[in-house]
Formats: sequence, structure tokens, C-alpha cells
Amino acid sequence: MNAEIIAVGSEMLTPDRVDTNSLFLTDQLNQMGVEVVAKHVIGDDRERLTTAIRRALEASGFVLISGGLGPTEDDVTRDAVAAALEREQFFHAGISAGIEDRFLRMKRVMPEINKRQAMVIEGAEILSNDRGTAPGQWIAANGNRVVVILPGPPHELKSMFTRECEPRLRKLVPPLAIRIQVFRISGMSESDLDQTISPIYKKYGNPATTVLAHNGDLQVHLRARCSTEAEANALLKEVGDQIDAALGEKIYSRNADPLEVITGRKLVAAGATLAVAESATGGGLAERITTVPGSSAWFAGGFVTYQRRLKTALLGVPEELLASHGAVSSETAAAMATGARERTGATWAVSITGNAGPSTDGDEAPVGSVYIGIAGPDGVETFHRIWPSSDRPRVRAFAAQMALDMLNRKLSQ
Ligand code: ATP
Repeated sequence: MNAEIIAVGSEMLTPDRVDTNSLFLTDQLNQMGVEVVAKHVIGDDRERLTTAIRRALEASGFVLISGGLGPTEDDVTRDAVAAALEREQFFHAGISAGIEDRFLRMKRVMPEINKRQAMVIEGAEILSNDRGTAPGQWIAANGNRVVVILPGPPHELKSMFTRECEPRLRKLVPPLAIRIQVFRISGMSESDLDQTISPIYKKYGNPATTVLAHNGDLQVHLRARCSTEAEANALLKEVGDQIDAALGEKIYSRNADPLEVITGRKLVAAGATLAVAESATGGGLAERITTVPGSSAWFAGGFVTYQRRLKTALLGVPEELLASHGAVSSETAAAMATGARERTGATWAVSITGNAGPSTDGDEAPVGSVYIGIAGPDGVETFHRIWPSSDRPRVRAFAAQMALDMLNRKLSQ
């Protein structure tokens, strides 16, 4: 079954508010095997909303509408649904009494306009609201179609969906086993990744494949939907094995664990520790590492040496080396990593020096130029990359990702 979601509210057509209800609903629907094929955000306009509901119902069997159930004139959802379905509304005394009761419990008198919230569309099942005043409605329409009206406030919507809609939906959709596998990949571009694996995943409609990229970290999600768990697992294995073979060592995780977790696990297994010396990332690498619970078992700590003076004072990078090669250089990266390793006694030390932009800062290093140093038991090695970006946050995030990726590769050798 396909679904469409309509978020109602003029505030979501401004830069200040975003529709998050549909993210929750999409997740819940997907878990039951219902695909969301379109989402709409419509302002508080009765005619526009009526048209949107009519169109959605023509295209999809299940239409969920959130918001616009309040008591005021600009809450138009009930009227628009009634108009789209060409049905009457009637006053429901029980709902009105319930709302009145709620007001009384808060030691208030129900304003007359709240009676609007007790209007029910002909043929609707009432969905109780245990967190607010406006009840929802479940309306079976012609041709096995269903329209559901839910309140806008996210906590009300979530509770109502879980208690009232999920059990009803389960009766409508056949049970489905959904299994997901997440591969995480580093050290290649999104387009290279897609070019490599698209001949594989394009052969399959199921599992559905999604490629996500975020600051040099790539993920491939495979989502298998079958009638049994065994079938879903077998399908994931069939496609996953081919992706595994095509990407090989580019895959660093086959269970969604991030790079810092994988790297930490390798260090623990080797009884090794890590220190960092950061310039361009200003502590961003240490921040990522310390998000991992228990990282104190393998992460000794680090240095944020931004000015040359501290590179020399804290890490022992010779002043002459900085003067002759520059702070953003392979030589400096190597000296920073070596200094951090010596001064902390860690098994491994990783350094980052680079120019994150947007200007060259008189250091002559081009924007996006990043050097990584890795010092370990067998000496020090450096890596260089120029990111084609003058977007400072992105260059810094790429640099931390690259440092972790290089270390992870070294630890795999
Ligand atoms: P109420 O009876 O509380 O007015 P309602 O169903 O009329 O409920 P709206 O007035 O449309 O809901 O929205 C109430 C609040 O809920 C909004 O101010 C907004 O903060 C939030 N909200 C509404 N729709 C969404 C949405 N799609 N995603 C996230 N938040 C939403």
C-alpha cells in the first residue's frame, strides 16, 4: 500500500518551522511495509487543502493529514476533508463533553469555539487524544482508501498514531519482515561509490538501496522487505555479498558502527592507545573520538596547537622546520604526530594540519589543503589531500574523517 502525508500549517511555509511529523510517520509506515510516495506542506487554506487531499486520494490508498485541528477559524483540516470526500459533519456531544472535562480539570471553562473540535465527519472512527483536546479521525473512503486526520503537536500525533492508527493499519496491511543492512565506506567519492555498486543494486527492486554521503563518510543502506525474516535475511545476503566483493577494503563497517567506534575496537584488541595533535580541526577529531562511550580505555588525549608557538612548545616541532616548510606541510604533520606520540607515550599519534579556508592566511597553503601525520611503532607516515572546497566546516570535517580513515587503515595492516 502507498501513502501520502499532508502537513497542514502556514507556519511550515516560513523559514522558521519545519514539518517533522512526516518523518515520524514515514518511519512508522515504512516499518509496516507502507511506502510513502509523496509529502506535501499546505498552508491554512481550505480550498488548497481540499484540492491537495483530492489529488492525494486519487494517487494513493492511504492519506495522513497532520495539523489544523485546533478550535480557530484558520484550522481548516476537518472542513477540507469533509469537502474532499463530499461528506457532512455532525456535532458529537460526547467529544464536546470530553473537551469540556479537560478544561475543567485545568480549572478553566471551555471557550465556545472549542466546540468546533467536536465536529465529526460522517462515517469517521474517532481517534482519542490523550495529550490534547483535538481528537483525530479515521475515515474509510471509497475503493478501500483511508484518510486519517491527526493533531499537529508532535507529542499528540505520536501518541495517537501509536495507540490508534497502528493497530488499525496492521489489520489492513499484510505482515512484513523488514531487515536492514548498513555498510559504511570511507576513502572514495560518492560518485565513485555509486558507479561501482549501481550495476548491482539496480538489478533489484527489493532490497531498496539508499546511498548517503556526509563529509566524506558514505553509507549504503539495504532495506529488504519480505514476508518472512528468513527470506529478508537471504535477500540481504545475496545483494550484500556482491557489494562486499565490489568495494572490498573500502568498507570499514558492515553493521552501521561509525569510524571512531571501529578504530577504537581495533586499538583495544591490540592493547594500544592513541593521542592526537590538531591544528586545523581545533579539537574536532578528539571530539569525535570522545563521543564513543569508554574511549578513555584507548584514547590518551590530545593537543590543540593552533599557533606555531604552541606546535613548538607542546609538541617540539622545530621552529626552523616551521619556518622552512610552513605550518601546513608534510614535515610539520610528521613532527606534530611524532611529538604527540613521544610526549604522551601513546602507541599511536595522529596529527592534522591544514588550511580550512576561506582565505590562505598568509601561510601560502591553498584552501582545502590538509596533511595528516600518523606516528606509530614503525615510524611516521604522512598523507596529503586538497579538498575542492572553501567551506570551512566541511574542510574541517573532511580532515577529521580522513585522519580516522588513515589510522583505521594502518591498524588493519
Ligand atoms: P491544536 O489543537 O493544538 O491547535 P492542531 O492540530 O490544530 O492542534 P496546529 O495548530 O496545526 O495543530 O499545530 C500546533 C503546533 O504543532 C504548531 O505550532 C507546531 O509547533 C506543531 N506542528 C504542527 N504541525 C507540525 C508538523 N507537521 N511537524 C512538526 N510540528 C508541527
